[in-house]
Amino acid sequence: MNDYIQIATLNDFIFCPYSIYLHNVYMETDESLFKAAPQTQGTLVHQTIDNKTASHRADDLLSLPVCSEQYQLMGRIDVFRKNTGTLIERKYQLRHIYQGQIYQLWGQMLCLCEMGYKVLSLAFYEISTNKMISIAMPTQEDLNRFCKFLEQYRSFDPATTKFPINPNKCCHCIYCNLCDKTDTENVYT
Ligand code: SF4
Repeated sequence: MNDYIQIATLNDFIFCPYSIYLHNVYMETDESLFKAAPQTQGTLVHQTIDNKTASHRADDLLSLPVCSEQYQLMGRIDVFRKNTGTLIERKYQLRHIYQGQIYQLWGQMLCLCEMGYKVLSLAFYEISTNKMISIAMPTQEDLNRFCKFLEQYRSFDPATTKFPINPNKCCHCIYCNLCDKTDTENVYT
């Protein structure tokens, strides 16, 4: 399973590929060393899913581990509504929907389809506003683009692959104070 990509890291890879490397380096350490308030809030939101308390509908699948051999992806879905075929990712607040978040939803969808579930629609659910936001199902062209992105992810080498360092991103990055690529101060400290 070494080449399998964790779906939850796709958005972070677009934000900064080096953050995935730092995540792997620091994943065994105390999270309070680097987790800022927004990330802690996101973790708490996902705890309700992981504890399966977000929905009481009998036809909802919650926090299901998923995997795709074809795309070499693995992760966990938030909610799959079996009666409508809707795959939903819950977020506390969604000021923007980033391409990486859509890739994560596509990745979950591809895993579910390979596991035999019929996914008919995709959506984000914004908890703070109680809003459901529909996301288009990917076209074949979208999936080709997604596969190229996965290739880029797999070929990234933190020692040799060049990547842009953007201080505006660094100051919002949870690894900022631990990162050897920048002297920028983290806005959360
Ligand atoms: S601090 Fe900057 S360079 Fe380092 S991982 Fe974060 S975004 Fe990337």
